[in-house]
Amino acid sequence: MSVAHGKIIIITAPSGAGKTSITRYLLQKYPRLSFSISAATRQPRGAERNGVDYYFMSVEEFQDKIQEEAFIEWEMVYEGKYYGTLKSELERIWSLGKTPMLDIDVKGAIHVQQQFPDQTLSIFIEPPSVDELRKRLMSRGTETEDTLQTRVNKASYEISFKHSFDEVILNDDLDKACVATEAVIAAFLGDNLV
Ligand code: 5GP
Repeated sequence: MSVAHGKIIIITAPSGAGKTSITRYLLQKYPRLSFSISAATRQPRGAERNGVDYYFMSVEEFQDKIQEEAFIEWEMVYEGKYYGTLKSELERIWSLGKTPMLDIDVKGAIHVQQQFPDQTLSIFIEPPSVDELRKRLMSRGTETEDTLQTRVNKASYEISFKHSFDEVILNDDLDKACVATEAVIAAFLGDNLV
C-alpha cells in the first residue's frame, strides 16, 4: 500500500502538557485539519467512543494488524498497552482532501518524521516544568498513584528529545500556545488554513 502522498502534522508532548487541548482547539477552528484516530488496546475512558477518540481493539486484533503491516508506526506506550497510527486512517483523511493531525507519543512522532521527512511538520508541546505537569495530571483525576508516577517519569525522558522536532512550543499559557501552534501550521500548509 502506498501512503506517501499528503502532508502530515504531528503534535507530540509528554502526557498532560496540553497537546490534546491544543489539538482540539485547532480541529474545531479549521475543518481542513482532521484528527487522526489511532488504534489502541487500552479501555475507553469516560465519554470516549470507538471510532471517534480511538479505534479500540483487543491485543490480538492489534497484533494481527502489526503482522499485516497496517501501521505507519505503533508503540507500546504504557505497560501492555499498544497504540498505533493506521495507514488506512491517513489515507481516509487524505482522500477527503484534508490534512491529518496526529496526537501521538514522542517515539511514534520520531518514527513518522523519519519515514516522511518532506511531508511532515512535527510540533513538540513543552510543559513549563515536570512539577507543573504532575499537578495537571493530578487535577485531571484520571490517574492512579502508579500511573501518575509512570507518566511523570516518562515525561522527563520525553522532554530530553524535544530538539528532534521541527518546532518546540512552550505551554505556560494555553491561549498563547494555541496561537503559536496555529502560526507554525499555517506557515507549513502555505495557504489559508480554512
Ligand atoms: P492516552 O491513553 O492518554 O489517550 O494516550 C497516551 C499516550 O499515547 C499519549 O501521549 C498519546 O498521544 C499517545 N498516543 C495516542 N495514539 C498514539 C499512536 O497512534 N501512536 C503513538 N505512538 N502514540 C499514541
